Amino acid sequence: MSDPDHIRRIAGEPPSLLQPANDSTFMRVALHQALAAYEQGEVPVGAVVVKDGHVIGRGHNLRETLQDPTAHAEMFALTAAAESVQSWRLDGCDLYVTLEPCPMCAGAIVNSRIRRVVFGASDPKAGACGTLFNVVQDSRLNHRAELAPGVMADECGEILKSFFRECREGTIKRRGRRTQDDETSTHQEP
Ligand SMILES: [Zn+2]
Repeated sequence: MSDPDHIRRIAGEPPSLLQPANDSTFMRVALHQALAAYEQGEVPVGAVVVKDGHVIGRGHNLRETLQDPTAHAEMFALTAAAESVQSWRLDGCDLYVTLEPCPMCAGAIVNSRIRRVVFGASDPKAGACGTLFNVVQDSRLNHRAELAPGVMADECGEILKSFFRECREGTIKRRGRRTQDDETSTHQEP
């Protein structure tokens, strides 16, 4: 089975943000960001920042395109949100991301004072919101975020698995160099 079509079915229709929203609504917006990464041959991870029921920042992984180790979905979403509110402090803002944030992004979440982190798939290789570390709830740091793991975890995980499967089968062209880790990784390469 090829494709973008299969993946679009996983992501579903772009949600109407005019309807009353819940965690799944915003996770679906993040999934559509992941889909945009997928279509560019990037590991499909997407993120959005929400304040008062509105999306104020979004982003997706662009590490290979930009050849930038900091080009994770969350970093773009946080930067866009800060621009939107004209402040580095994202008080009252929630981050939705399809894959559990890594230590770098978890650090950025603490530094931006995000109120709540909602993520989809857990990341056994880099997860810093409960799996390998819990950076966002470490009482030694000066800020803690609420955590809501596992929202639409199946869809978020499936888009990653499908991406790596298609890379192996050669039905999509992945940007950047392939590493041996890809063959075994469910999610991101380390
Ligand atoms: Zn990250």
